[in-house]
Amino acid sequence: MKLHEYQSKQIFAHYGIPIPKGRVASTAEEARQIAVELGRRVVVKSQVLVGGRGKAGGVKVANTPDEAEQMAQTILGMNIKGLTVRKVLVDEAADIQHEIYLGVVINRAARRVTMMASAAGGMEIEQVARTSPEKIVKVLIDPFIGLCDYQARQIAFALGLKGDQIRDFGAIASGLYKTFLDCDASLAEINPLVITGDGKLLAVDGKIVTDDNASFRHQDLAVLRDVDEETSSEAEARKFGLSYIQLDGQIGCMVNGAGLAMTTMDIVKLFGGSPANFLDIGGGASADKVAAALRIILADPNVKAVLFNIFGGITRCDEVARGIVAALKQVPTQVPMVVRLVGTNEEEGRAILAGAQMQTANTLVEAAQKAVAAANGEEYVPAPPPPPVAYKPKARTIARPVVKKPVRPVARKTTRKVSKQATKKVIRKTSQK
Ligand code: GDP
Ligand code: MN
Repeated sequence: MKLHEYQSKQIFAHYGIPIPKGRVASTAEEARQIAVELGRRVVVKSQVLVGGRGKAGGVKVANTPDEAEQMAQTILGMNIKGLTVRKVLVDEAADIQHEIYLGVVINRAARRVTMMASAAGGMEIEQVARTSPEKIVKVLIDPFIGLCDYQARQIAFALGLKGDQIRDFGAIASGLYKTFLDCDASLAEINPLVITGDGKLLAVDGKIVTDDNASFRHQDLAVLRDVDEETSSEAEARKFGLSYIQLDGQIGCMVNGAGLAMTTMDIVKLFGGSPANFLDIGGGASADKVAAALRIILADPNVKAVLFNIFGGITRCDEVARGIVAALKQVPTQVPMVVRLVGTNEEEGRAILAGAQMQTANTLVEAAQKAVAAANGEEYVPAPPPPPVAYKPKARTIARPVVKKPVRPVARKTTRKVSKQATKKVIRKTSQK
């Protein structure tokens, strides 16, 4: 789950990271009121869950409460990268001398949480990574030790910070790392962390992305979820416990199991199609879950064909078939469908679907080819089987390894030689005692 800037910064403040004074507003009048309370130059910032709001005109500095009201008026309702602005944050404007990037992410390759920083802050870090990767400093954090002071100093020096800034930066870095851990985040980022005119550090922007797999232990964060920002499909998928990610292709895929879903997408791609979504209905899906999944798929106007790939194990094919029939009653559609049902109760499943207008397939290859053809409005022509490959034993090219005779180990010389007779003497002496 992504948190808004204002939510992220409030959490940062809780961990001792300095943030500007300010509040969030839903109307221009409220924005004006906040500007009056702050009593100085303010910055009016759109609160939408995307980056690059500044460039899109969603961040504006206002000198007076009147200006703040005007700017809030223009920003509220604005569309930024497909999202409507419903709230603005009105913060004290910072006197910015320099912008730094500071972020904590999971580095899967290193299997460590990694702190990244760059003196080229403000712009998106992906762009810095592309154009001048040498400007990014990274430190890997040992999970048992945590972020060490020396590591924070190492970053501070690399950023060119001086004097008190180094100490203050240490507190901010450790606060950001704690935020990351406590929120079970996959990203905690300050961009920009600014150096103000009087040399102080201030977190002007904030972003936290939490890991949904840990949401069960974060009732505190659950209230921060902004349902306005989710597409209705995502919200419905979450309600029914479906893993759904919308993509921009044309073939809707309904699959049980994440691995099978990935394979299905790969095979669709292999035969020249492109998947409209990733959708895992999970194990043991009930008919109403299947119906919800199909409604979600069909709600996407790009979908030109639907491919069902169900492997019945715990999931029963007849139950899935019932769900498909139920959904088709709710959402009548002309979109062609291809279904491959294999496993538990597959005959019953096929019998239920016999009445529905659907193509069936026995193999995944056949199912994918039929779905691609249907999406393109073409007739399915089975691909000819690949030509047989004649077996020809390979010529031996590798020389036999030369077997060396093992070298006999040389007996080690002992420094003291004890003769047999001397030993006998000692034995005699001790037995006499
Ligand atoms: P983003 O574009 O969505 O990342 O939004 P940011 O909050 O990072 O703002 C974008 C840019 O606006 C920053 O990089 C700053 O240059 C500028 N900005 C943000 N807040 C202030 C402020 O308080 N004062 C001034 N002068 N500029 C600001
Ligand atoms: Mn930013």
